[in-house]
Amino acid sequence: MKDKTIPFNWPHMTGKELYYIAKAHFNGCLAGDGPFTKRCHGWLEARTGCGKALLTHSCTAALEMSALLLDIQPGDEIIMPSYTFVSTANAFVLRGGVPVFVDIREDTLNVDEQLIEAAITPRTKAIVPVHYAGVACEMDAIIEIARRHNLKLIEDAAQGVLASYKGRPLGTIGDLGAYSFHETKNVVSGEGGALLVNDPELVLRAEIIREKGTDRGRFFRDEVDKYTWQEVGSSFLPGEIIAAFLWAQLEEADRITKKRLVSWKRYHDLLQPLEAKALLRRQIVPEECQHNAHMYYVLLAPEINRQALLEKFKRNEIFPVFHYVPLHSSPAGRKYGRAFGELELTDRLSERIVRLPMWVGLSNEQQDKVVQVLSDSLV
Ligand SMILES: *Cc1c(COP(=O)(O)O)cnc(C)c1O
Repeated sequence: MKDKTIPFNWPHMTGKELYYIAKAHFNGCLAGDGPFTKRCHGWLEARTGCGKALLTHSCTAALEMSALLLDIQPGDEIIMPSYTFVSTANAFVLRGGVPVFVDIREDTLNVDEQLIEAAITPRTKAIVPVHYAGVACEMDAIIEIARRHNLKLIEDAAQGVLASYKGRPLGTIGDLGAYSFHETKNVVSGEGGALLVNDPELVLRAEIIREKGTDRGRFFRDEVDKYTWQEVGSSFLPGEIIAAFLWAQLEEADRITKKRLVSWKRYHDLLQPLEAKALLRRQIVPEECQHNAHMYYVLLAPEINRQALLEKFKRNEIFPVFHYVPLHSSPAGRKYGRAFGELELTDRLSERIVRLPMWVGLSNEQQDKVVQVLSDSLV
């Protein structure tokens, strides 16, 4: 970054993206599932231990595939947090499913596992935990509930690449897991994502759904002598240009994560005095969670005016952001979903959060300035 603006996000380039894209061009294979896609699948499978990884256009597409795979029917209920990105819910609403929103935990802003069981009805089909900020949900408790009630488990691990829970990579703990490679995430391809298929019984259908509902994958493996329409699907696979770009990023994924963790830790140390004065609360990462520094956020004390703070940042050419407008209070969320009880923490905490600029290459000087402006506005 040359000027003195500090953006919220700045996509990191490893330097090999265009080289691999040129190679894909040279290979003359530009449709999906070519050599670069296979490399990316191999990396994801080796690094996460998932049975099958499939690149998609986005995490949204991976979630939509999940809804098709679980055969979600109109009226089926899916339990999820309200504090999440719209795709978590929208993917199921497309199949006629009804998102049932439960409240979050105060520490991690993840779904409160203790509320899930009471939200289950005879129509409940699945639970979708969202690993916010790459910090895992309490998966042991959630798995136990899913088993007891025979529910499917889909991890929205959009933010969770290279993060883990008790040593288990996020996205590999449920029946299915969805990753995002959107340019605001840690490892990027502009738009992009992957579905991790952990239940071996779902692998073949996942391939079919992703290939327009056909058994084209089996045809290319010489397992069938022609390919035909097998079931409802769509085109969920990215072309090789995207996969080539992503490959350059996956090769560097460990270094990217390491660098982000350094910036994360630095924010965490610099902000300790403000937390000590009770002006804000820093992010909390439970012992059993290895996170990936996807984001650094703070929760402002209730008496602090967030809007005024954001304007002050803007005057200093710093662009932090806040999110999410809780889904249960959004127009579509009210129309298609329902809230389970009072979502008191979701409402309260979503109004106090501020996400600080976080990207590979953020300098110490830039971080110091962010912290300086923040502390000047609070004290
Ligand atoms: C980014 C994100 C998504 C959507 O990812 P895309 O790849 O942009 O479709 C879904 N869920 C969560 C929690 C996200 O952060």
